[in-house]
Amino acid sequence: MPLKSQHLRLVEDPTDFHHTIWRSGQTLVVKPESVFPDCCVRCGKPAEGNTARKWLFWHTPILLPVALLSWPFYLLLALVMRRTMAIDLPMCQQHISLRRWVTIGGFTLLPTAALLALTALSNAIPLLFLGAMLTVICSAILIGWARNPVWAVRFEEDLAFLQNVHPSILELDTLPVWEEQDWSW
Ligand SMILES: [Zn+2]
Repeated sequence: MPLKSQHLRLVEDPTDFHHTIWRSGQTLVVKPESVFPDCCVRCGKPAEGNTARKWLFWHTPILLPVALLSWPFYLLLALVMRRTMAIDLPMCQQHISLRRWVTIGGFTLLPTAALLALTALSNAIPLLFLGAMLTVICSAILIGWARNPVWAVRFEEDLAFLQNVHPSILELDTLPVWEEQDWSW
Protein backbone atom coordinates (compact mmCIF):
# COMPACT_ATOMS: atom_id res chain seq x y z
CA MET A 1 0.00 0.00 0.00
CA PRO A 2 1.45 3.41 -0.87
CA LEU A 3 2.48 5.36 2.19
CA LYS A 4 0.03 8.18 1.62
CA SER A 5 -3.12 6.07 1.48
CA GLN A 6 -2.30 4.49 4.84
CA HIS A 7 -3.42 7.76 6.33
CA LEU A 8 -6.68 7.86 4.43
CA ARG A 9 -9.83 7.01 6.30
CA LEU A 10 -13.52 7.57 5.89
CA VAL A 11 -15.00 10.50 7.74
CA GLU A 12 -18.49 11.90 7.65
CA ASP A 13 -17.51 15.56 7.58
CA PRO A 14 -14.57 16.84 5.46
CA THR A 15 -13.56 19.14 8.32
CA ASP A 16 -12.86 15.98 10.33
CA PHE A 17 -10.31 14.73 7.83
CA HIS A 18 -6.72 15.64 8.62
CA HIS A 19 -3.44 14.03 9.55
CA THR A 20 0.01 14.89 10.86
CA ILE A 21 -1.35 18.00 12.53
CA TRP A 22 -1.81 18.87 16.22
CA ARG A 23 -3.04 21.73 18.38
CA SER A 24 -0.96 23.21 21.14
CA GLY A 25 -2.57 26.07 23.09
CA GLN A 26 -2.85 29.05 20.72
CA THR A 27 -0.77 27.36 18.01
CA LEU A 28 -1.23 24.68 15.39
CA VAL A 29 1.69 22.25 15.00
CA VAL A 30 2.31 21.28 11.38
CA LYS A 31 4.75 19.41 9.14
CA PRO A 32 5.33 19.92 5.39
CA GLU A 33 3.06 16.93 4.68
CA SER A 34 0.29 18.03 7.07
CA VAL A 35 -3.28 17.78 5.83
CA PHE A 36 -5.33 20.50 7.50
CA PRO A 37 -8.99 20.18 8.46
CA ASP A 38 -11.01 21.79 5.65
CA CYS A 39 -11.59 25.04 7.56
CA CYS A 40 -10.48 28.54 6.54
CA VAL A 41 -7.55 29.60 8.76
CA ARG A 42 -8.90 33.18 8.76
CA CYS A 43 -12.58 32.66 9.60
CA GLY A 44 -12.99 28.94 10.41
CA LYS A 45 -15.75 28.46 7.79
CA PRO A 46 -15.58 25.48 5.37
CA ALA A 47 -12.76 26.04 2.87
CA GLU A 48 -14.40 23.65 0.37
CA GLY A 49 -11.03 22.32 -0.74
CA ASN A 50 -9.52 25.75 -1.50
CA THR A 51 -5.96 26.25 -0.34
CA ALA A 52 -3.33 28.96 -0.60
CA ARG A 53 0.39 28.14 -0.65
CA LYS A 54 2.27 29.79 2.19
CA TRP A 55 6.01 29.90 2.74
CA LEU A 56 6.86 29.99 6.42
CA PHE A 57 10.05 31.72 7.50
CA TRP A 58 11.55 31.56 10.93
CA HIS A 59 14.86 32.21 12.63
CA THR A 60 15.91 31.89 16.23
CA PRO A 61 14.87 34.94 18.33
CA ILE A 62 18.46 35.07 19.62
CA LEU A 63 19.25 36.93 16.38
CA LEU A 64 16.88 39.82 17.16
CA PRO A 65 19.31 41.86 19.35
CA VAL A 66 21.75 41.76 16.41
CA ALA A 67 19.19 43.81 14.45
CA LEU A 68 19.62 46.64 16.97
CA LEU A 69 23.39 46.65 16.42
CA SER A 70 23.59 46.25 12.66
CA TRP A 71 20.77 45.78 10.17
CA PRO A 72 22.90 44.45 7.27
CA PHE A 73 24.65 41.93 9.56
CA TYR A 74 21.29 40.86 10.96
CA LEU A 75 19.81 40.38 7.48
CA LEU A 76 22.82 38.30 6.46
CA LEU A 77 22.58 36.08 9.57
CA ALA A 78 18.80 35.78 9.21
CA LEU A 79 19.22 34.74 5.57
CA VAL A 80 21.77 32.07 6.49
CA MET A 81 20.02 30.78 9.64
CA ARG A 82 16.41 31.01 8.50
CA ARG A 83 14.21 27.93 8.43
CA THR A 84 11.56 27.63 5.75
CA MET A 85 8.61 25.37 5.07
CA ALA A 86 5.90 25.47 2.40
CA ILE A 87 2.38 24.52 3.45
CA ASP A 88 -1.02 24.62 1.76
CA LEU A 89 -3.35 26.59 3.99
CA PRO A 90 -7.08 25.95 3.66
CA MET A 91 -8.87 29.24 3.03
CA CYS A 92 -12.45 30.00 1.99
CA GLN A 93 -13.03 31.50 -1.45
CA GLN A 94 -13.83 34.88 0.10
CA HIS A 95 -10.54 35.08 1.98
CA ILE A 96 -8.52 33.80 -1.01
CA SER A 97 -10.03 36.62 -3.14
CA LEU A 98 -9.37 39.16 -0.38
CA ARG A 99 -5.75 37.96 -0.15
CA ARG A 100 -5.33 38.36 -3.92
CA TRP A 101 -6.91 41.82 -4.17
CA VAL A 102 -5.16 43.26 -1.10
CA THR A 103 -1.83 41.98 -2.47
CA ILE A 104 -2.53 43.62 -5.86
CA GLY A 105 -3.61 46.82 -4.08
CA GLY A 106 -0.43 46.78 -1.98
CA PHE A 107 1.80 46.40 -5.04
CA THR A 108 0.03 49.11 -7.04
CA LEU A 109 0.81 51.56 -4.22
CA LEU A 110 4.53 51.21 -5.00
CA PRO A 111 4.51 53.00 -8.40
CA THR A 112 2.23 55.60 -6.78
CA ALA A 113 4.89 56.14 -4.10
CA ALA A 114 7.62 56.42 -6.76
CA LEU A 115 5.54 59.00 -8.65
CA LEU A 116 4.99 61.01 -5.44
CA ALA A 117 8.74 60.89 -4.65
CA LEU A 118 9.64 62.04 -8.18
CA THR A 119 7.12 64.89 -8.05
CA ALA A 120 8.44 65.85 -4.60
CA LEU A 121 12.01 65.98 -5.92
CA SER A 122 11.27 67.82 -9.17
CA ASN A 123 9.02 70.42 -7.51
CA ALA A 124 10.87 70.60 -4.18
CA ILE A 125 7.81 69.73 -2.08
CA PRO A 126 9.04 67.95 1.10
CA LEU A 127 5.49 67.14 2.22
CA LEU A 128 4.97 65.01 -0.91
CA PHE A 129 8.12 63.07 -0.03
CA LEU A 130 6.59 62.27 3.36
CA GLY A 131 3.47 61.11 1.49
CA ALA A 132 5.62 58.80 -0.64
CA MET A 133 7.19 57.26 2.48
CA LEU A 134 3.77 56.75 4.09
CA THR A 135 2.52 55.11 0.87
CA VAL A 136 5.46 52.64 0.97
CA ILE A 137 4.67 51.82 4.62
CA CYS A 138 0.97 51.30 3.76
CA SER A 139 1.99 49.03 0.88
CA ALA A 140 4.22 46.93 3.18
CA ILE A 141 1.44 46.64 5.78
CA LEU A 142 -1.17 45.60 3.17
CA ILE A 143 1.11 43.02 1.53
CA GLY A 144 2.28 41.72 4.92
CA TRP A 145 -1.32 41.33 6.13
CA ALA A 146 -2.51 39.67 2.92
CA ARG A 147 0.39 37.23 2.60
CA ASN A 148 0.55 36.22 6.28
CA PRO A 149 -2.78 34.89 7.56
CA VAL A 150 -0.63 32.78 9.91
CA TRP A 151 3.04 32.86 10.85
CA ALA A 152 5.55 30.53 12.49
CA VAL A 153 6.46 31.33 16.09
CA ARG A 154 8.69 28.29 16.54
CA PHE A 155 10.45 25.64 14.47
CA GLU A 156 11.61 22.28 15.83
CA GLU A 157 13.13 19.70 13.52
CA ASP A 158 10.57 19.49 10.69
CA LEU A 159 7.73 20.99 12.74
CA ALA A 160 6.37 24.52 12.64
CA PHE A 161 4.19 26.12 15.32
CA LEU A 162 1.63 28.41 13.65
CA GLN A 163 0.17 31.47 15.31
CA ASN A 164 -3.04 33.32 14.35
CA VAL A 165 -5.01 30.26 13.25
CA HIS A 166 -8.75 30.83 13.71
CA PRO A 167 -9.75 29.79 17.28
CA SER A 168 -12.51 27.46 16.04
CA ILE A 169 -9.82 25.26 14.40
CA LEU A 170 -7.82 25.14 17.63
CA GLU A 171 -10.99 23.99 19.40
CA LEU A 172 -11.66 21.04 17.04
CA ASP A 173 -11.95 17.94 19.23
CA THR A 174 -10.82 15.77 16.33
CA LEU A 175 -7.37 17.42 16.31
CA PRO A 176 -4.95 15.65 18.64
CA VAL A 177 -3.27 17.77 21.29
CA TRP A 178 0.48 18.15 20.79
CA GLU A 179 2.47 16.33 23.44
CA GLU A 180 5.47 18.45 24.28
CA GLN A 181 8.69 16.52 23.79
CA ASP A 182 12.10 17.17 25.21
CA TRP A 183 13.98 19.10 22.53
CA SER A 184 16.58 20.44 24.91
CA TRP A 185 19.17 17.82 24.06
ZN1 LIG B 1 -12.47 32.55 5.43
